[in-house]
Amino acid sequence: IFWTKKLDIVVIGLENSGKTTLLSVLAHGEPVETVPTIGLNVKVFKKGQVNMKCWDIGGQEQYRSEWSRYTKGCDVVLFVVDAAAPQKLGAAKKELHKLLDDGSIGTTPMLVCANKIDLTPHVGEAELIDKLQLNYVMETPWMVLPISALKCTNVEQVVEWLTAQGK
Ligand code: GDP
Repeated sequence: IFWTKKLDIVVIGLENSGKTTLLSVLAHGEPVETVPTIGLNVKVFKKGQVNMKCWDIGGQEQYRSEWSRYTKGCDVVLFVVDAAAPQKLGAAKKELHKLLDDGSIGTTPMLVCANKIDLTPHVGEAELIDKLQLNYVMETPWMVLPISALKCTNVEQVVEWLTAQGK
């Protein structure tokens, strides 16, 4: 991938949703830094013009005030969900809406990656929008993209979306 623009990407999602896998596919990069905030394990990748910061949400409530530090000033947010684990969508929705409600994402464009579509069964796009209550999200521009980070399905569409988000 050749990146022409400087891009700050923040990748968030529940543990095990596939963030690290997606990042390594996007970046083929090495983690360059672990931000030394107690209780917050943020992985930072760097590849050419692209900075990527990645962290798990959930189970870290007490550090929530730190998060806007990472999302503020970033260009795009990737929210990764495991589409093959419908039982986790409630928790994902809860955590996502906390971030949306406390202004941590604001007007930054957000791509919701419905990951693991190589697994059967997995939830479809309409059901995901419903379960994550995305139709109630007004301030943040969002889009849903079904992907498989593992099989590289639709990953080029993630890249297209990312590169289209110019400042
Ligand atoms: P993270 O905790 O969000 O960073 O998730 P990881 O990237 O570590 O992935 C968690 C597990 O899900 C690993 O075993 C991955 O191999 C697996 N995984 C990630 N993406 C996919 C996918 O698209 N399809 C399938 N079947 N498994 C995936």
